[in-house]
Amino acid sequence: MAEPQPPAASGRPGLGLTGFVADRARNSPPASGAQELDQQASSELEQAAQILSAGRFAVLTGAGLSTDSGIPDYRGPDAPQRNPLTYQQFLGDESLRRRYWARNQLGWRHLRRAQPNAGHRAIAELEAAGAITGLITQNVDRLHKDAGSVNVVDLHGRFDRVVCLACGTEFSRDQIAVRLDEFNPGFLARAEANGQIDLAPDADADLDSAELIGSFTVAPCEVCGGMLKPDFVFFGENVPKDRVERSFGMLAEASALLVVGSSLTVMSGLRFPRHAVKAGKPVVIINRGATRGDDLATLKISAGVSESLSRLAARLSKSAGDQVQ
Ligand SMILES: [Zn+2]
Repeated sequence: MAEPQPPAASGRPGLGLTGFVADRARNSPPASGAQELDQQASSELEQAAQILSAGRFAVLTGAGLSTDSGIPDYRGPDAPQRNPLTYQQFLGDESLRRRYWARNQLGWRHLRRAQPNAGHRAIAELEAAGAITGLITQNVDRLHKDAGSVNVVDLHGRFDRVVCLACGTEFSRDQIAVRLDEFNPGFLARAEANGQIDLAPDADADLDSAELIGSFTVAPCEVCGGMLKPDFVFFGENVPKDRVERSFGMLAEASALLVVGSSLTVMSGLRFPRHAVKAGKPVVIINRGATRGDDLATLKISAGVSESLSRLAARLSKSAGDQVQ
């Protein structure tokens, strides 16, 4: 008798994550009809290689790069509607802050377990080959570092760090997790028992139990008692100046800009292709689906980012190596 099958197990420990399951399914190889797309993508990637091999180039990455690592995109075609907390809400509303930390306490663990994919490794390979001036990422998941990238600007911060807004002390997220566990004994187990939890790329998790959130205790700074904040740039908050300057420095040294896996929805990312175009530098965008920078692109490739980057790296690492010799 035919019973409905449960979704394939994600192979990851812990909570039932709808995001992980959906992404695993999406990442399975296409069964048919791929050949034609493949040829088009190949010829576009060759064009991209020609543009990018004129000199060293800067790279800007977004959430689309990490979907193959099981971290769902905010704005991809399958992403649920979300209303992320603004910086002003975080500062001004204690109940929203409590909700934020409760959800983050669930969500960050899944970012910690994620592993870099072929796309991250391809960018690290390009850097090692001397093909790029640097990497600007909008992702907070640190997977580029894990893959071996060295010169990286974490434009929107990093999930594994917490800062005190009063005294500026930085803590590891692990350290804060231990304290939150002490303040909230049994929270993780109760959240797990509460059912399926959606994960977002900013370590947010879709926990909506009023009981669980209402009873959550937020940890103050151990040094000064001040307010702690995950080291993310929130909506409504400015990217720190030194990160912006380092990013523009990478672009200034570059002869072109490659944007991968970003829909360029937020201005903090969109300003880089705009700046490149003003400086007369070509922009190549690889992203599944439309981006806000498509009209700026010298070449736009709508294809899977991991596979495209792997092919580009194989092609460009070789030509960068040839130039060096
Ligand atoms: Zn402090």
